[in-house]
This record gives sequence, structure tokens and C-alpha cells, in this order.
Amino acid sequence: MTDALTVSDLTKKYDTITAVNDVSFSVKVGDVLGFLGPNGAGKSTTMKMITGFLQPDAGEVVVLGKSMHTHPLLAKAAIGYLPEGSPLYGDMTVINFLGFMAQMRGITEIKKKGAAINRAVSRMQLQSVLRQPIDTLSKGFKRRVGFAQAILHNPKVLILDEPTDGLDPNQKHQIRQLIRDMAKEKAIVISTHILEEVEAICTRAIILNQGKIVLDSTPQQMQLEAQEQRHVIVHVPRAQSDKLLPTLLKINGIIKVEFQQADDPTQAALRIHGEKDLALLDTVHKVLSDHQLQASQIRMETARVEDMFRKVTLGTMN
Ligand code: ADP
Repeated sequence: MTDALTVSDLTKKYDTITAVNDVSFSVKVGDVLGFLGPNGAGKSTTMKMITGFLQPDAGEVVVLGKSMHTHPLLAKAAIGYLPEGSPLYGDMTVINFLGFMAQMRGITEIKKKGAAINRAVSRMQLQSVLRQPIDTLSKGFKRRVGFAQAILHNPKVLILDEPTDGLDPNQKHQIRQLIRDMAKEKAIVISTHILEEVEAICTRAIILNQGKIVLDSTPQQMQLEAQEQRHVIVHVPRAQSDKLLPTLLKINGIIKVEFQQADDPTQAALRIHGEKDLALLDTVHKVLSDHQLQASQIRMETARVEDMFRKVTLGTMN
């Protein structure tokens, strides 16, 4: 399948800050791309350039073969956008709001407009709230109204900014299910800071930091890589920890050993990091038995995807 959205060498500067620095990626129908990064990483600026709200200083956005620069109307017509938060015009009823947004999208012919609204309303299950002012709806319904306006013109590409932010777990579940359903026929980009969301719905994840892509991977791959960053926690009597530390550090494949606070003040907790090829737990067991040391606790821990995220955005892994 050809790419529905291609972003090439996108760059945007604000005065001295390079908010987006040479960012390239593409998304196919069926893909849900998670766009991650700490605050200030450049996610919103990238999204604004993709949706045509902001002109890039360099690079190009192409939607269904149409350049946002040379064919902005055609390119924009193929994109649906769910901005962060709730839809504006809170005093409008849902039906009036959707009618207004259809009009804005150039869907003016009565029959076409009715069909577009009906399709979006039934997809987002908004039938029960059609005549209610948007301000009176729950957050979950408000978000669904936002989704409905984003898909009114049946776009092939959907850009969703923090789609489940501020929703309760049930509402989050519903919205994620909707995104999964829509992914069958659309290319979707989600900006989020919720890693669990990436694992739940994304087929790919890009992590942006200081305007640059620092990781382009699948959530499964991220999980595997995180798991490779494992460590063993050992609790030994404080007096013995001095003996253990130099021995451990001499072993090939042990990267570092950290001291941690143990609940029991007579104990020292050591956190031992090993390279991925090292049989870490076996190695630690052997050292303990060679030195006739008694551990009150010994357990393996693997890093989580959160740790991966911190590693690539902060350069640390703890
Ligand atoms: P994110 O969405 O990942 O939090 P943004 O794209 O909002 O990041 O911001 C990227 C960088 O650009 C930040 O350093 C931010 O302060 C800066 N920035 C964003 N918008 C503007 C603006 N209108 N004027 C000046 N600097 C901006």
C-alpha cells in the first residue's frame, strides 16, 4: 500500500529555537503512528505543519500525493484533525455544530451534508445527544463530537492530538477502540505522552526530542529493547556489600552497580546492570556462592517502555 502521508525533511525555527529539525516519516493506511516526546519536543509544531496551519521553513508534507505547499486545498481535504481538548462553540448543539463544521469543510449540498453528518454521528454513537449543547456533555462525549467533526469529510489521514487526555478509563477504552476501528481504512497519527496508549493502539512509534527523531520503532520492539535493559536487585548484609561490589565490577559484562536504600537498615540493596548477553542472574548467584554470601533477596527486573523513553529523551536509564 502506498503512503497516505509523507513528511520529508521538515524543519521549523522560531527565532533562535529550532522547534522541528529535519523530521521525516511516512504513514500508510492501516498504520497508527504514535508521536511521542517530552514537552517542547516539537510535536505540536510538526502537527501544525502536517495539517497546513503552519508553513515549514524547509521540507514538505504530502497527503495522498498532494503537496501541502503546492496543493493546500486538496491536501487539507484529505486530512481530519482532532485538536487537543474539546471542540469550540460549547453553546451549539451537537447537530448544529456538525452542520456548521460540514459547511466549513465545503459540504454544502443538503443531501451530501445530511449523509456526512449521519455517517459521523453513527460512527461516534452520538444519536442520544444530538440536540444537547456541547457544553453540557461529558468529556467522553465531547471528545466523540471532536472525532465526528474530524471525520465528516471522510479523510484518509487522521491527525489526533492527545485523543484520550483527561478521559476516565472507560472513556479512554472507548476512544481507543474507535481509533483501532478507524485504522482499518485510514492512516492515523496520534500525538500523546501516554506510553500505555502507544502500546495499546499504535503500530509504530516515533519519539521526538529537541525537534529531532531519536527513535522510530514499533511498540513491540521498544518493549523488547526495554526488556534487554535488565538488572538484578540483591539484598545482602551491609557489612558484606563492600566485599561484593569490587568482585562484581571485575566481571566482564557487568555495566554498573548502584546502591539503593533497603527497607531493612542492616541490609544493603545493590542494583546490578548487565549487558544483554550476560546470564546476569546466574552470574550474581555464582558470585554470592563463591564468596559464601547470603542474600536475603535476589530478583531480576526488566526496564519498562517508560525507561526506554527516558533513555532516548534524557540520555539516562535508571
Ligand atoms: P511539544 O508539542 O512537543 O510540546 P512544541 O512544538 O509546542 O512542542 O514546541 C517546540 C519548541 O518550539 C519549544 O521549545 C517551544 O517553546 C517552541 N515554540 C512553540 N511555538 C512557538 C512560538 N509560537 N513561538 C516561539 N517558540 C515556540
